[in-house]
Amino acid sequence: MELERCVRCTLPITWETLYFDDKGVCNICKNWDAKQKVINWKTREKQLLRIFEDAKKTKRAYDCIVPFSGGKDSTFTLWAIIKRYKIKPLVVSFDHGFYRPKTIENRTRTFRKLGVDVITFTPNWHIVKKLMLESLIRKGDFCWHCHAGIFAYPMQIAVKFKIPLIIWGEGGGEYEGYFKFEDIEETDEWKFNRRIILGMRAEDMAGFIGAELKDLQPYLFPSKEELDEIGVKSLPLGKFIQWDQQKQVEIIKSELGWQEDEVESNLPGPSFDKVECMFAGIRDYIKYLKRGFSRITHRTTIDIRNGKMSREAAMELIRKYEARKPKSLTVFLEYLGICEEEFNDIVSKHLIPPAKPVDPKTLIEGPKLHDQDLWFRENKI
Ligand SMILES: [Zn+2]
Repeated sequence: MELERCVRCTLPITWETLYFDDKGVCNICKNWDAKQKVINWKTREKQLLRIFEDAKKTKRAYDCIVPFSGGKDSTFTLWAIIKRYKIKPLVVSFDHGFYRPKTIENRTRTFRKLGVDVITFTPNWHIVKKLMLESLIRKGDFCWHCHAGIFAYPMQIAVKFKIPLIIWGEGGGEYEGYFKFEDIEETDEWKFNRRIILGMRAEDMAGFIGAELKDLQPYLFPSKEELDEIGVKSLPLGKFIQWDQQKQVEIIKSELGWQEDEVESNLPGPSFDKVECMFAGIRDYIKYLKRGFSRITHRTTIDIRNGKMSREAAMELIRKYEARKPKSLTVFLEYLGICEEEFNDIVSKHLIPPAKPVDPKTLIEGPKLHDQDLWFRENKI
């Protein structure tokens, strides 16, 4: 039996924070309507301009921090901060270890074209691999190190350099129900613990993997006292301007020469979504095994809500492309040091009902990404 899906956007019931009204429309669709109708975006942008004016008055070396990966959202945010709002950022980039060649090119080009100071931090690979396996086993989600580092590290730099303003990209509420568009959520410790690190703090992870807490330093969110001392404001740009992925991608392409790339779990051809991670396909594959749907659903829900695709056309693409095993699984398993049976066994323990277990042997394998042979391989020197 197929999963129950939103009658409007196709999101299935197994998506986190999802619920349907009595007509079968999901809460994300309703939140989306609010984004178009309820929010006064002009007032919101004025609020932002006031925040930027205050930041400039402080005469610090940097007006704000922009956390940066090189994907479409952080690239647009950085462009907007410099070109549209004319304030001076320090770019802080936590290298999760999975940048693809084109992302590295995009990053370099963006930094050079915009003229910015950049701190890139690369965490210990041995610890990264242990954290990936541990969080996969415990939560069916291997991205703990990436999410924890991406959010905690720029906050640490804010404290160290005494830069009290951090500007993130997209706001909460676009695709999940943790936040509404009416709220302007700060990336604070509450959000970090609940939303980002799946309730597992660096202190917990150190114990789980048999490491010392000092080895997990990059993943520690600064204390409230440290943040209060500098009076930190940590805000998503997407809550002050109306976020429009398509439009923003057009801007970074024409202004910065930003390039799309193939993404394993997306439709064939270039895509702007998740180009900054080698293992986007693996994350989506796990989602498919756990929740019965994957990236094509996610992408097409946005196109449906924006009136660019019919529900029927989306369902056709979902049926055609979603049930596929990514070719990058070989590389991923090599990093984790486990075999495919072990991987399947771990993931099967995290099934989210009413999704039904899938036998991975029944799935066809997707095509290999054009750059996969260039990726770092654990077993080749
Ligand atoms: Zn919906």
